[in-house]
Amino acid sequence: MKLIIGSHVSYTKDEGLLGSVKEAISYGENTFMFYTGAPQNTFRAPIDKVKTKEAKELMEKEKIDIKDVIIHAPYIINLANGKEDKFNFAINFLKQEIQRAKELGIDKIVLHPGSHVGLGEEKGLNNISKGLDLVLDEEKGPIICLETMAGKGTELGKTFEELKTIIKKVKNNQRLMVCLDSCHLNDAGYDVTNFDKLLDEFDKVIGIEKIGCIHINDSKNEIGAHKDRHENIGIGTIGFDNLINIIYDERLKEVPKILETPYISIDGGKDRTYPPYKFEIEMIRNKKYDEDFLEKIRNYYR
Ligand code: FE
Ligand code: FE
Ligand code: ZN
Repeated sequence: MKLIIGSHVSYTKDEGLLGSVKEAISYGENTFMFYTGAPQNTFRAPIDKVKTKEAKELMEKEKIDIKDVIIHAPYIINLANGKEDKFNFAINFLKQEIQRAKELGIDKIVLHPGSHVGLGEEKGLNNISKGLDLVLDEEKGPIICLETMAGKGTELGKTFEELKTIIKKVKNNQRLMVCLDSCHLNDAGYDVTNFDKLLDEFDKVIGIEKIGCIHINDSKNEIGAHKDRHENIGIGTIGFDNLINIIYDERLKEVPKILETPYISIDGGKDRTYPPYKFEIEMIRNKKYDEDFLEKIRNYYR
């Protein structure tokens, strides 16, 4: 089966998309996801046209289809918060992010739906729909993939029903899809170890054709913990075989899979950590768990 797999990679002001492509290739990936700047702020540098062109040439050479590449919107954007200044700020930023996606030629933007911060679920969901309506004011353009959330704090989008409630109130909702996150689903209380059943349920509520991206993460916590702490492949509560089941699901073979697993520290200290993706992707491609993979990562970067 064709496998579209990548990870979160960096995107720097100097190297732009070209740096992201190079990083993805170094891990053996055929897609990737990045923030267009720091995820915790909304400062964004202008896009370098020359580097973008070089990035696209490299993607073509390496058979990376730009249709599978994902932008992740910064997580501080909160459409659920109805406060006028915050709401307008979020809408402006997202409109600019869509412009940036167009400039780069990228079709999919993953977005955390938002947290209602005490307003209550109904108002929060309503605000998200209102915001998306304003952002998606044209019939055509990049797609926003709403991410399934763990339900930490007052996070919305923790059930398929909540996502459906958001989507159905948006006029141009042909431009909305969903990004499943295996860790978030687990933490929200969905049994990802019975993935066929989970997909059937998603299909009933939203429709399987609406899945635009899948984040592949193991979880540090038990099902239903509402925590959102990602774990490396195979060492969390979901486990390697269950993640392989998700990754190789026939019904989702056209959907890009993105790893967002934690970086590894070499000496136990947290000051310098290293990406696990090259090793995790190798195990995924072999469909075989390597018990020593963390040690191999440490040796590789040592
Ligand atoms: Fe996310
Ligand atoms: Fe995610
Ligand atoms: Zn997460």
